[in-house]
Amino acid sequence: MPEPEVDLSKTYDAVIVGSGAAGGMAAHVLTSKGMKVLLLEAGKKLNIEQELRSMEWPYDNANRGFLPPDSHSLNFNEYTIRRPPYGPGFEKSKHLRSYIGSSDYTKSIVVDERENPYTGTNYAWVRARCLGGKTNIWGRLALRLSDYDFKAKDRDGFGENWPISYSDIAPYYDKVDLYLGITGVKENLDYLPDSIFQRPTKLNCAELTLKQGIQKMGRVLTQYRAGVTSDGLKHNKYRSRCYGRGACSRKGGCDIHAAFDSPTGLIYPAMDTGNLTLRPNSTVREVTVDPATGKASGVRFIDSQTMKDYHVKARVVIVAASTLESARLLLLSKSRQHPNGLANSSGHVGHNFCEHVMGPGVTGRAKDLVGNPSTLDDGRPGGFYLTRFRNLKEKHPKFIRGYGFEGGSGSTMFPRGTDAHGFGAAFKDEIRKNHGAYIEMGGFGEVLARYENHVDLDPLLKDKWGIPALRFHYRFGDNERKMCEDMKETAKEMFEAAGFEILHVSDRTLTEGWSIHELGTARMGNDPKTSVLNQFEQSHDVKNLFVVDGSAFVNASCQNPTWSIMALCWRSCDYLADEMKKGNL
Ligand SMILES: Cc1cc2nc3c(=O)[nH]c(=O)nc-3n(C[C@H](O)[C@H](O)[C@H](O)COP(=O)(O)OP(=O)(O)OC[C@H]3O[C@@H](n4cnc5c(N)ncnc54)[C@H](O)[C@@H]3O)c2cc1C
Ligand code: SF4
Repeated sequence: MPEPEVDLSKTYDAVIVGSGAAGGMAAHVLTSKGMKVLLLEAGKKLNIEQELRSMEWPYDNANRGFLPPDSHSLNFNEYTIRRPPYGPGFEKSKHLRSYIGSSDYTKSIVVDERENPYTGTNYAWVRARCLGGKTNIWGRLALRLSDYDFKAKDRDGFGENWPISYSDIAPYYDKVDLYLGITGVKENLDYLPDSIFQRPTKLNCAELTLKQGIQKMGRVLTQYRAGVTSDGLKHNKYRSRCYGRGACSRKGGCDIHAAFDSPTGLIYPAMDTGNLTLRPNSTVREVTVDPATGKASGVRFIDSQTMKDYHVKARVVIVAASTLESARLLLLSKSRQHPNGLANSSGHVGHNFCEHVMGPGVTGRAKDLVGNPSTLDDGRPGGFYLTRFRNLKEKHPKFIRGYGFEGGSGSTMFPRGTDAHGFGAAFKDEIRKNHGAYIEMGGFGEVLARYENHVDLDPLLKDKWGIPALRFHYRFGDNERKMCEDMKETAKEMFEAAGFEILHVSDRTLTEGWSIHELGTARMGNDPKTSVLNQFEQSHDVKNLFVVDGSAFVNASCQNPTWSIMALCWRSCDYLADEMKKGNL
């Protein structure tokens, strides 16, 4: 598709920074309303199908699907024992990637850690700098939030409520469901509202056993709610429906785009309107302001390859660079009118940073399935989601908020249970006999949004483009520790209730950042003194500035955030377009 050139003499209706879930959604909504939009993306436009190769068998890959030997990806110990920046010490490796970059299929999608360093406390920061950002490889679990999340303070007194309720956002969740497609099964749970689902995937034997086993405990296991179209989308020519034929459980996307990704789901359709100009390789380093009014006037960006500097003008600036990069950009954008960074009169930019804590979980074996013939369980976008059950009706004595589990069982392209011991024919036989009988699950818990958990700019360290790096001041607290202890106990108790043989119980809490669900660095609220954005993700300080990604979240809940990021962004962009029509921006 031909890409129009950026016109530096023109004032665009809106410039969007970042092309992931948030930036893509903003491009879709605004171009569909006739606005002339420029989308700037720091990374390359990759030949993504060639990267993902969802049909490739491990034995057809020179490195069996892993990184080539000249590259290294950080592991749990390295993240935990070393301190950021993580580059020093790995000089022998040509490339250094985050833990998600451990596969041959993701190596070009995630950043090189040495080019993109950060400092401060330990943090496994996964960044995808390419068109579509992290949506190219996301796990697709697409969950809604509820008033248990939006009004969590009313229930336990901690933090702040959101300035919206579920009823404000529900119509936008519906729009996202219908435009992008989602699979799942209705459960009628008030704490995990249903979507408008397409055809669901099926639970396999062990998963059904677990579902039935925990029913008597009042707990709910449902099919993985996947941001994947299983029935197809007549309005989108860039995406196929899922026909269950690939390595969905492998980190590394879907090369027929049944799973949502921002380029095929949002950006290419937006380009077809004729209203979108896309410029990859454009690293935005500052949101500029009009010295007379203090309003945003455009952005300054560097060509990521030639290092040339540009300025482009726009009536509205939309920051969608992902939670931490967006905070970094606001902090970088200092001016006489905004000496603390843009939109930061409250001092809350970079603060209230939250996410999900991961690690505790359980692996078991359904003994009655050992020796059964293999089934095709990989060709589905996910296994199961075991929903939150803590602090709903009863109050847990040790911690507030909740957690859920993601899990799965059955035969996959990369067999489960490869920690079996032995060699030769007996070893192969052992793997074959058992791999369909394994079942595992791991917890995702809410990390509380605390003011002291924050990021700021490192005074010394800069990235490859000469832009100050981010510095982390972020640690899990007591609530997260107690929640993780409980996660481990309940995981085991539920596998026991299902009658599985318990093989391993993990009590290890993974490094901060592992969930890749960072949120909250420019939270929304009604009070400009304690929040950065209003309920429409519009800056309290700078009316023509919107921050439409996970930064706006007030708390993390325990549900995965991407569907909510897009629903909120859609709502904000509807408001933005209305305000622009009224001449208010
Ligand atoms: C392996 C993996 C599994 C995941 N699983 C799930 C899941 O199951 N469910 C779920 O809800 N979420 C999941 N996520 C998280 C999900 O991908 C993110 O929530 C989502 O992509 C966030 O969208 P975003 O637009 O805010 O950020 P991104 O998708 O990261 O996009 C941001 C874009 O901005 C660009 N950018 C950054 N800085 C600049 C700059 N200065 N100038 C220009 N461009 C810039 C980046 O290059 C990037 O393309 C997962 C993520 C990963 C990596
Ligand atoms: S199972 Fe479906 S969503 Fe997953 S890779 Fe295959 S086609 Fe794509």
